[in-house]
Amino acid sequence: MAKARKESPLARAERLLETVPMIDGHNDLPWVIRNDAHAKGDVAKYQLAKRRNDGDTDIPRLRQGRVAAQVWAAFVPSNIDHPGRATLEQIDVILQLEQRHADAFLPARKAADIMKAKRAGKIASILAVEGGVGLESSLGPLRVWHAAGARLMTLCHNGTLDWVDSATDEARHGGLTAFGRAVVRELNRLGMIVDCAHVAPGAMHDVLATSSAPIMFSHSNARALCDHVRNVPDDVLAKVPANDGLVMVTFVPDFISEDVRRWMHPLRSGPADTFAQDRMAAIAEHERTYGPRPVATLAQLADHIEYIAGKVGANRVGIGSDFFGVPTTPVGLHDVSRFPHLLAEMFRRGWSDTHVAGLAGRNFLRVWKAIEREGERLRAIGTKPAVGTVAALDGA
Ligand SMILES: [Zn+2]
Repeated sequence: MAKARKESPLARAERLLETVPMIDGHNDLPWVIRNDAHAKGDVAKYQLAKRRNDGDTDIPRLRQGRVAAQVWAAFVPSNIDHPGRATLEQIDVILQLEQRHADAFLPARKAADIMKAKRAGKIASILAVEGGVGLESSLGPLRVWHAAGARLMTLCHNGTLDWVDSATDEARHGGLTAFGRAVVRELNRLGMIVDCAHVAPGAMHDVLATSSAPIMFSHSNARALCDHVRNVPDDVLAKVPANDGLVMVTFVPDFISEDVRRWMHPLRSGPADTFAQDRMAAIAEHERTYGPRPVATLAQLADHIEYIAGKVGANRVGIGSDFFGVPTTPVGLHDVSRFPHLLAEMFRRGWSDTHVAGLAGRNFLRVWKAIEREGERLRAIGTKPAVGTVAALDGA
């Protein structure tokens, strides 16, 4: 009898993902389709079903990466004109994706849809709104987003809003205003995921104090390992176990590595969102002054996973790549086909099947189900929908 060969960590990860869902918490494909010179927001004109040579996401590579569920961001920058309309247009891109590629994607409007999609050989599509700027300071649009299928809301993006402080802008409110707290409570009532990526530390604390459901950080790393304002500080991580929420690590190189963060810092310190205009050109220009751009690695990201797991528990970590959200990726994690390689690294570090399964997706499933149950409870006890505007609630 041939001697049994020891299974490689990668083979073990791929075997695990036959039954365990691989869930990614953040991908900016809708923004790419909106800005693609040819597609201009028309999903039919953006070739997603074939393997592309550009970018980091397409359907063949999502399948290669064993992705079972993808959170798509209906992202709009904080300083866009007509933010309400832009948010609806971004939601529409995701709905187009689901309809145009119905053979590949199954709309996931509840947690149970993820395993339903996996059993059907499809990728669960989860609709998220990134940035509350599209509310235009009113609670009504939130319920319309939910009715359209949104199940996660990132409270803000790079700019501070009238009701919530952004991590990358001035802290004008010390966290959330009364309107901001009403947004969180309404998300709880709707059973939607409250996402604290992008919010300032004061707002993270306010959300944790306000939310009756677990919360998520859909794409953020540990501030203690990389001192970027987008990362989660230790005093916030300390509160995550009591909330039973989820911290999903992200592949953004300057949120992973201190070297990259320092190198990138002058590029990021302009007004919010201007960096998004022509980022690779800006990086090339920057290299002329500051020398070659340092890189972040898969192993450094695994360090963040271990650090965060040490603070909040391995049952409260997840993965939110932010593919298509930034112009560069870590070495070893260059596209959506690479998720199993990250899980393999955790096996190499001695993580158990249970902990890796949690990181890959079971933790996300558990937390989303708890959020749904809290929404059901609040509606069952007759909690009224929150109504009003910043002017009415904050007396502005
Ligand atoms: Zn983001």
